[in-house]
Amino acid sequence: MAERSIEYIGAIHIHSDYSDGSKSIPEIAAIADSVGLDFLLFADHMTLQPLADGLEGWHGKVLVLIGYEINDPDNRNHYLAYNLREIVEPGLRAKDYVRLVKKKGGIGFIAHPDEVRTALPDHPSYPWTEWSVDGFDGIEVWNHMSEWMEGLTKHNKLWRFLSPRRALKGPTARTLKWWDDFNQQRKVVGIGGIDVHAFPYKLGPMILEIFPYKVQLKSIRTHLLLEESLTSDVHRSKEAIYRALTQASAFVSHYRWGDARGFRFWAEREDQRVDMGDTIASDGFIALKVTTPQRADIRLIKDGVHNDTLHGTEVSFPVQDSGLYRVEVFRRGRAWIYSNHIRVE
Ligand SMILES: [Zn+2]
Ligand SMILES: [Zn+2]
Repeated sequence: MAERSIEYIGAIHIHSDYSDGSKSIPEIAAIADSVGLDFLLFADHMTLQPLADGLEGWHGKVLVLIGYEINDPDNRNHYLAYNLREIVEPGLRAKDYVRLVKKKGGIGFIAHPDEVRTALPDHPSYPWTEWSVDGFDGIEVWNHMSEWMEGLTKHNKLWRFLSPRRALKGPTARTLKWWDDFNQQRKVVGIGGIDVHAFPYKLGPMILEIFPYKVQLKSIRTHLLLEESLTSDVHRSKEAIYRALTQASAFVSHYRWGDARGFRFWAEREDQRVDMGDTIASDGFIALKVTTPQRADIRLIKDGVHNDTLHGTEVSFPVQDSGLYRVEVFRRGRAWIYSNHIRVE
């Protein structure tokens, strides 16, 4: 298998003025370019109109891909659907739209599964409740907007508005458990979502934006590792992005604590090497290797349980047991990088 070493960094789950976002897709793409992103996955509510309007493709150095966010009649079970030409019929339940997205050749991600909002009665939460459904490709393990809203109280509101990125502590334990448990049965990619809208919000005499696009595009990022470079061929580049996602050749980072470009997690045995999303056979000793662009605490998670921690920029965990392994990287106690899994059999 070819090594997947070409890294592209993007932001997923973006709302534009096609639904309740406040800027146009070309404006958001220009901001993404200015903060060094390579791709954007849009997800306006219940519409693929930007696709019909020809907005998918390269906007300068940024590849814009258009999907949409589906909800059920109770406005729960939000689902990010990509690689579709048209929307599935509205008004369906999650089990039906998850199935139909797959049937039509699309790929789908469960959005903000663990959303709980207690502080703001006028902003209800939109959790995932249909856990009996199967057929999705991934889970948004870390959603900027959900986590930010979840911790909001009337006392910390101003601080949280002024420090929208510092407030993020990491994915919830429940979401991580769902994700680890699903992966025991089959591969489910973990992605980061920013859920950016940049709504205007009135706080006393001030009108604030929650949050400017520029701030959120510098927060939770999804990094993909590809076998080959993207090209001017939009169709081919789109396939490469979606393939990396379904392969789980991906990791999630919070840019506030450092640029995670260059992070790698792979398994080695003699002359064999496998990357995130892959499986390696164990008949003895395997090294799980990690490199990070800055010194950090690297926690090895095996089958959902914290197994070991090493400190540095290049570490190697010797393992013998079969299991599902991933790493979490912290800098000065702050959640920075979440890898996808490597399966040892
Ligand atoms: Zn949503
Ligand atoms: Zn959304």
